[in-house]
Amino acid sequence: MKVITVFNQKGGVGKTTTNINLCSYLAMEGYKVLSIDIDPQGNTTSGLGFDKRKIKTSIYDVITDDTSIEEAMVKCEFVDNFYIVPSTMSLAGAEVEIIDKVNREKILREKIKDIEGKFDFVFIDCPPSLGFLTINALTASNSVLIPIQCEFYALEGVGQLVNTIQLVKKSLNPNIDIEGVVLSMFDSRTNLSNEVVSEVKKYFKNKVYSTTIPRNIRLAESPSFGLPIMLYDNKCKGAEAYEKLAKEFLERQEK
Ligand code: ATP
Ligand code: MG
Repeated sequence: MKVITVFNQKGGVGKTTTNINLCSYLAMEGYKVLSIDIDPQGNTTSGLGFDKRKIKTSIYDVITDDTSIEEAMVKCEFVDNFYIVPSTMSLAGAEVEIIDKVNREKILREKIKDIEGKFDFVFIDCPPSLGFLTINALTASNSVLIPIQCEFYALEGVGQLVNTIQLVKKSLNPNIDIEGVVLSMFDSRTNLSNEVVSEVKKYFKNKVYSTTIPRNIRLAESPSFGLPIMLYDNKCKGAEAYEKLAKEFLERQEK
């Protein structure tokens, strides 16, 4: 079982879109996949068709209470082999509630131990911040998948991101590594997109996937229907790209 955090502290770079669609393709390939939504915005939760107002047990209970991951997880209705631990706004208050708990960076890691071997991949979708929830995710993970948006300030904050991973590696989780870097919202018509790609490759070298995710309106629409792209429009460019990314991701696992 491999645990992967999807993280970039920059907002709106494609973390959730990558999480939802990569997980869906891996599940469709027959891998058993769990996605833990650890973002109070709950975009993975709603993007997979769950009504946040109706959720009774969520990652909030897992973090602040005795609730296990298995108690909080629900099956994704439309994709076999795909489960999620949903999130709601209440998660925003979790940090304050457990402020005096010892080992509070390790809560998620401890909870994940209980599901060891039950999944092939566990993906954790993070909020756009370097706070306590993200630290919990990084501490619980084998690796970090970093989406980077092809835009002017793409590399801004990347130093801090890598620093954070290094800090976690030193103090909380010596085994963590960078899984890969996904370039998202690529627009082949602009020089800027191409420049960003080469800058990011200079920085992350072979960690960068050769598959880039194009800017594609269907990818932006699908969450409002609560569907992964393969079920919303499996012929669009965005679907093709995420399917290809899933293949590349799997090829790397074999190495
Ligand atoms: P946050 O930091 O708020 O959690 P995020 O990094 O998870 O954001 P997403 O929610 O995946 O980013 O994407 C931000 C917005 O851009 C969303 O509205 C999403 O639908 C849209 N989007 C993501 N990827 C693409 C794409 N390749 N083409 C077009 N729109 C996209
Ligand atoms: Mg998100």
